[in-house]
Amino acid sequence: MSVAIHTIAFYPGSFDPLTNGHLNIIQRALRVFDQVVVAMAQNVNKRAMFTLEERQALVRECFADEPRVSVVIFDGLMVDAARLHGATAVLRGLRGVADFETEFQMATMNNVLAPALETVFMMTEKSHFFVSSHLVREVASLGGDISPLVPEPVNRALRLRMARK
Ligand code: ADP
Repeated sequence: MSVAIHTIAFYPGSFDPLTNGHLNIIQRALRVFDQVVVAMAQNVNKRAMFTLEERQALVRECFADEPRVSVVIFDGLMVDAARLHGATAVLRGLRGVADFETEFQMATMNNVLAPALETVFMMTEKSHFFVSSHLVREVASLGGDISPLVPEPVNRALRLRMARK
């Protein structure tokens, strides 16, 4: 007897903007899960460089040929949103010990809130371990070339944003 199981990874973050680090985690997760839901929290971050809609559009553009990736915006508890989207697991990336501490705390809290929802961690690939949205924003705003660190649509959007400043 065969059983059809559809696995969904819920990948929450700010993605301000999407970097090659995020991209790599999503691509690798697609080998393990049937679907990846990239999820952006609505909670207002006044210092965000791109609006939620802009960030969402950039992720969509980067995965235009991949129907197994979708993008959603959520508010409230992440675990509630993950359940709402039928998530099999919450997906997070780990860059190093600094990430581990906070990720461990968050995963434990989420496990208390939703014991049936597993958090799955993927280790960053070595070429992306130093890449963060925060650093990308900072370097871009100082005029540095961030093209090796972000997908082309994001690079274009960042250059446009800097040119308008
Ligand atoms: P950042 O921490 O860069 O601002 P997010 O808050 O959007 O990014 O992060 C969402 C998730 O993606 C987190 O689990 C974070 O650890 C992971 N992540 C971010 N950058 C990388 C990277 N370069 N390699 C692996 N995982 C990453």
